[in-house]
Amino acid sequence: MQAVLDEAAFIQGPAVGLFAEELGQYLGGAHVVPCANGTDALTLALMSLDLPAGAEVIVPAFTYIATLEAAALLGLRPVLADVLPDTFNLDPAAVAAALTPRTGAVVAVHLFGQCADLEALAALCQQHGVALIEDNAQALGATFRFADGRVAHAGAVGTVGTTSFFPSKNLGCLGDGGALLCADPARAALLRQLANHGQSRKYHHQRIGLNSRLDTLQAAALRLKLQQLPANQAARQAVAARYDVALAQVPGLAVPARDPRSTHVFHQYTLTLVEPARRAALREFLAHHGIPTMIYYPLPVHAQPAYAYLGYRVGNFPVAEQLCAAVLSLPIHPLLTAEQVAFVGEGVQAFFAQSSRSFPKKI
Ligand SMILES: *Cc1c(COP(=O)(O)O)cnc(C)c1O
Repeated sequence: MQAVLDEAAFIQGPAVGLFAEELGQYLGGAHVVPCANGTDALTLALMSLDLPAGAEVIVPAFTYIATLEAAALLGLRPVLADVLPDTFNLDPAAVAAALTPRTGAVVAVHLFGQCADLEALAALCQQHGVALIEDNAQALGATFRFADGRVAHAGAVGTVGTTSFFPSKNLGCLGDGGALLCADPARAALLRQLANHGQSRKYHHQRIGLNSRLDTLQAAALRLKLQQLPANQAARQAVAARYDVALAQVPGLAVPARDPRSTHVFHQYTLTLVEPARRAALREFLAHHGIPTMIYYPLPVHAQPAYAYLGYRVGNFPVAEQLCAAVLSLPIHPLLTAEQVAFVGEGVQAFFAQSSRSFPKKI
């Protein structure tokens, strides 16, 4: 970062290209186009498809809002599809049912760090001639094994993959950042152009683009953090394995399900409560003992006022609705100690065992 300051090339400095190359290598040779954030990455991915106004973009009903915000801003129509109750990811059968002649793209989100069913979704998209976009903001580094034995990196399977370097993501920077991933060099060139005012060279604009660039300072930080990503990923997986041991037998909750075809990089470790009505009390109990929890996400997309115009009603996406009521994410990050993980596990156990009086106040 000092070198960047000395050089004063704050936009498009050398670290940006170096980081893109290094991330591409890490992802098995994908082309990487850095941009300003994960939401812009989704916007740019859709822009590169040149869809007609009003084209439909199928998105999961259980996701972060950015997944469909990009489509809505571009004058495309988000069409929701329900998710699977165990993996929280797009249900290929729901996607198949939502496809119409107006469908232009499917956006698969690899939620919480585990790949959606890329086998079924890629086949479905290919069969119908629609683009597959992978919103890989939460699963950078995860891999998926296809039936033919091929192993691919999350984000490198679809027409375009997108990711985010928001500080809390698995590869986070010191502010906002994002990137696009794709296998096709021509599309990578188009995405690079779109991210830089649609210009082919300075002051020559071929397309209406965005100003969406990764700052050189962020790229310098990301080059260092990329080196730590494998170790950090292993540390997250170790935390998840400890939580599993502590919680798998606790009645009243389900630990995160694993799709055997995907690795899980545990952006989140998300429980599903059997009795959603007890979630608030569990959160309060844990908070009282200094254990923070979060609900990703408390409202399904179709219950958000901004998306009322899509015309969906409560009951349209029962799995997404049920998950919003029943999920709870426990603390997970690479620096959690075994002692802290055990403390959180004991806290959850104590709540369900109702022997909460014996649980210590603070670690
Ligand atoms: C974080 C996130 C985004 C948006 O990324 P930003 O960099 O915050 O714009 C998009 N989709 C998903 C699933 C995310 O988790």
